[in-house]
Amino acid sequence: MSTQQDSYYYIFGLGKSGLATLSYLQKHSINILVWDDNPETRKTISEDLLQSPETLPWEKIEKIIVSPSIPHEGPKAHPLLLEAKKRSIPFTVDIELFLRQSTFCPHYHIIGITGTNGKSTTTSLLCHLLNHFGKKAVAAGNIGIPVLSLDPTTQETYFVLELSSYQLSLLETPVLEQAIFLNISPDHLDYHGSMDAYIRAKTSIFNLMIPDGNHKGILGIDDSYTQDIYKKNPDLLSISSESETGDIFIKDHKIFDKRYKETISLPSLMNLQGTHNAQNIVACYAALRQILGNDFSEDCFVKGLLSFKSLPHRQEIIAQERGIIFINDSKATNMNAAEKSLKVFKNIHWILGGKAKSGESPTSLTPYFKNVAHVYLVGSSTDAFEQDLKGLLPYTVCHTIDRATQEAYSQASPGDIILLAPACASFDQFQNFEERGKFFKTCTNNILKGVL
Ligand code: ADP
Repeated sequence: MSTQQDSYYYIFGLGKSGLATLSYLQKHSINILVWDDNPETRKTISEDLLQSPETLPWEKIEKIIVSPSIPHEGPKAHPLLLEAKKRSIPFTVDIELFLRQSTFCPHYHIIGITGTNGKSTTTSLLCHLLNHFGKKAVAAGNIGIPVLSLDPTTQETYFVLELSSYQLSLLETPVLEQAIFLNISPDHLDYHGSMDAYIRAKTSIFNLMIPDGNHKGILGIDDSYTQDIYKKNPDLLSISSESETGDIFIKDHKIFDKRYKETISLPSLMNLQGTHNAQNIVACYAALRQILGNDFSEDCFVKGLLSFKSLPHRQEIIAQERGIIFINDSKATNMNAAEKSLKVFKNIHWILGGKAKSGESPTSLTPYFKNVAHVYLVGSSTDAFEQDLKGLLPYTVCHTIDRATQEAYSQASPGDIILLAPACASFDQFQNFEERGKFFKTCTNNILKGVL
């Protein structure tokens, strides 16, 4: 990779991946210009690299590396990228640079994972299982570790990449040894412009596979959209956690692999509860069988699942005391996500609320209210949710998570679950869902230490 003497790569958007791209390109002695709309971010960058899009010397720009959060299609497409299209200046994301580089590294094995939900869990679970089978594996991409921040290695390595639809819509180099597409439901439509464009972006993960035919793309077929995709691509390896239709399906704690007429019995997995996690497990199984061939061992697989630590803020077990389990599902930022927890746990002391998603009400979860012992209302949604829940569930207005945790612990009995699944955004009281989850952990620790 090189630039002509007077031509430049333009990095647009300096989040974690933009900054990693900057130092990667600097190491490769590429001429660079950069920009971020946030003046605070720009302050951290040397003046001579900064170039605003309004004064961009277009004739000198060879390529644009764009932050994956900046739309390039649909009604919100960024003017810079529309102009680049008009001028036929190519633009891409950091991951494409990594994919291209890896075509020169035969010891790099690249796995891509996408889906509307479950990407991060499946990415970290597969990485964990590969390590458990003695393979060197690292997780990166949309999971929060920029690929270009990874140190180059001469060792045989599996790179398990979480890929968002944004990133996929700009990737082109076919180097994936495995591609997993878990599920799809309407999301990010303002970014892509339409459901069709969103589906196209997700499905393009299969075009990134090495065209040697050795491995099949893996597709979850538990929603109507992916079922349509499967009809058009029957050669994909289909997996299911909700019916027996897939080539591989999971039911009653057993994986059935129709190809080999094999069954794998799974123990109860507190760290991977629910049919949504069953989908993530069966996806990892499908990929591992293709990667490991005869080296796959049921025993090692089961031990790997048992030793997996769920990701922070996603049904994360943070403490157990007096037979009461504290679970942090701060990532549940809408009713749909909170439903996953209400479905699988019983005797729940539910800490609910925050900045409500427009039009959403906890009454949409009424079928699971039988699993809820008591609700502790927090955040700016309190008044609305109080009206919604009157007469349906016992509740206490707590306003803040520290009070809610304290109150829940004083009411809970052995065998109960104290669950933070706010079903709301966090922005009324926190910077983000991570900060909210950390606060819940701190409150829990303080209560258990007798500080609160
Ligand atoms: P993503 O990275 O795609 O946002 P995560 O793995 O971070 O997904 O999980 C986010 C939330 O989505 C979890 O708290 C869980 O409730 C739910 N979830 C996880 N896996 C799945 C799945 N396969 N299908 C549907 N929902 C899922």
